[in-house]
Amino acid sequence: MNRPQLLILAASLAFGGVAHAAAPATHAHAKQAVAIDASNPFAKPSTLPFQYPAFDKVKDAHFVPAFNAGMAEHLAEIEAIANNPKAPTFENTIVAMEKSGKLLGRVSTYFFGVKGANTNPEMDKIATEMSPKLAAHSDAIFLNAKLYERIKALYDKRDALKLGKEEKYLLERYNTDFVRSGVKLSAADKEKLKAINGETAKLQNKFTQNVLKEINTSVLIVDTREELAGMSEAQINAAAAAAKSRGHEGKYAIVMVNTTGQPSLSVLTNRSVRERLSKLALERGSNGGEYDNRELVRQLAKLRAEKAVLLGYENFAAYQLEDRTAKTTTAVNGLLAELAKPAVTNARREAADIQKMIDAEKGNFQVSAADWDHYTDKVRAERYAFDQNQLKPYFELDNVLTKGVFFAANKLYGLSFKERRDLPVYHEDVRVFDVFDANGKQLAIFIADMYARPSKRGGAWANAYVAQSKLMGTRPVISNNLNIPKPPKGEPTLLTYDEVRTAFHEFGHALHGMFSDVTYPRFSGTSVPRDFVEYPSQVNEMWMDHPLVLANYARHYQTGAAMPKELLDKVIAADKFNQGMKTTENVAASLLDQRWHQLKPSEIPADVLAFEAAALKEAGVDFAPVPPRYRTTYFSHVFSGGYSAGYYSYLWSEKLDADTVEWFKENGGLLRKNGDHFRKTLLSRGGSQDAMEMFRNFRGRDPKIEPLLERRGLVGVSN
Ligand SMILES: [Zn+2]
Repeated sequence: MNRPQLLILAASLAFGGVAHAAAPATHAHAKQAVAIDASNPFAKPSTLPFQYPAFDKVKDAHFVPAFNAGMAEHLAEIEAIANNPKAPTFENTIVAMEKSGKLLGRVSTYFFGVKGANTNPEMDKIATEMSPKLAAHSDAIFLNAKLYERIKALYDKRDALKLGKEEKYLLERYNTDFVRSGVKLSAADKEKLKAINGETAKLQNKFTQNVLKEINTSVLIVDTREELAGMSEAQINAAAAAAKSRGHEGKYAIVMVNTTGQPSLSVLTNRSVRERLSKLALERGSNGGEYDNRELVRQLAKLRAEKAVLLGYENFAAYQLEDRTAKTTTAVNGLLAELAKPAVTNARREAADIQKMIDAEKGNFQVSAADWDHYTDKVRAERYAFDQNQLKPYFELDNVLTKGVFFAANKLYGLSFKERRDLPVYHEDVRVFDVFDANGKQLAIFIADMYARPSKRGGAWANAYVAQSKLMGTRPVISNNLNIPKPPKGEPTLLTYDEVRTAFHEFGHALHGMFSDVTYPRFSGTSVPRDFVEYPSQVNEMWMDHPLVLANYARHYQTGAAMPKELLDKVIAADKFNQGMKTTENVAASLLDQRWHQLKPSEIPADVLAFEAAALKEAGVDFAPVPPRYRTTYFSHVFSGGYSAGYYSYLWSEKLDADTVEWFKENGGLLRKNGDHFRKTLLSRGGSQDAMEMFRNFRGRDPKIEPLLERRGLVGVSN
């Protein structure tokens, strides 16, 4: 199974929540209070239910004043804590910090949430302006020696403080967060670090914007309908509309998604069109154009390597991994090496099957990356007597969401959902649901933003507009963002099998946010280690083809007929077929991420593409028909921030996921008692406990690797 396009954006990932709050200029004169106009919607918490964001009231002009006032207010609060004449207590230091930065938290979560889903040139400009300021703000807090003295004093006597379990863990986290941020560095090194953090934030933001602009620019324009042979009428109409909106009336545009693979490649029968599309996709960010990212990659890799050295680590990956469940580069390199060989062996076998099909058709060419999906579908069709397009009529979007995703959550956790149309939205395609717990009380508000649009970044992700915290008295408002192509007006939205999987996956993140039942904002919802956060979401994918769930949602959009069982059986059997390719492209991307972030500052290569090629070759995953899922120059996960040295997290989390799926099966599957156990031990705990301790509480033991190897067809594969 393949999930790596699915990204989680926790509210606390970069901003909001105190421990991760970001912040402004560091000179004393910049600290004077900057008042916010009372008419600014960010001045006070939203008065809508659950503090749901006032999407109808916020204008672009509100952001900058709110950011500036928010940073100033936060910094003043932090100064007051650091300079408190009273001796440090948990309450006057740690709790006070947890409560600080409310205004900044409000504007940050709103701004970055909406920017991901529906940006505009003004918001891009603001992000460019704010990202270094926010990095500096964060440094002003985490490099504050006086503040840290208080934290350290508490930390050193933590056992004597008689703290509750969550409180004690919070104190330990604060100490770790500050040490890792560089608070123990000399004054001169702190200045160096601040410069690095500011520059990094600026370049990451530029990388993000380049990737989105490149996707919108790298559109394949074809002249004739005939060249789109293989596409459905609806897809061709969408291509015509896309061309028209880009000023190519009468032609057809194939629009990109942000992975290396492009959905159209599976259906297009014209090989030269496939080749043009694939080439365009692979060359994104390295084609010498306006949005070329090669130099940015070099600079980012260098800055991160320098930061790691400054903080006393061998390289950036070592620095990042220390704070994750993997702990070391040795562990991550080990997992990738263990998977690489059997994965490529399987991919080569699949390639041989594909080549046979090409030869039988007298194709007279060698399979390339441009051909893979198209012929995989053909091999599947021959071997399993079905093709993907037979499924789509059974996967209508509203059915998938309300009768599939929601239905499974009802069976497992007792949740129920009611759509409401009275709350404002930032785009007309967005839907809003009240979520009720089994006892009938409202638990959360869920926002479903399912359609692709040029103003939305690629991939799929979940984010919290309001994060749960008992201390702050907040309850969750959680959003899921997908990129499903919107059909022409009047036509149904029919999903692919992978898109259905994505819907279940992202809702797994949403559950993690909605079930959160912690006291402190630092621990809310998905605030867990990066290589743990994909685990609950991947588990939620298991319900998409559960017989009971499937019977409820997979109904023909015209006739209402249930999906025939033999069709489903074929899907499941055929799902094993392409696993060599899927594991290989994932391992290759994970390897690239690690190679870039295991460099010393002096080792940054001059030639980005040559380095990439050599890294893949050295690891034995340089199999041209299966390129990495993301190439370096459009690898937003790792060069925009969130998953730097962390792309392996998907595979790492999958070990826990596959082992958990086994647990559900051993215990009777889709039952309330099982859901409740998962919720109680894990989904409700946020980051308030050590991650692996939560896993053991759930599973009763440490995770095993076998279920993952089995799932990916890697058992007994030798080279
Ligand atoms: Zn995810």
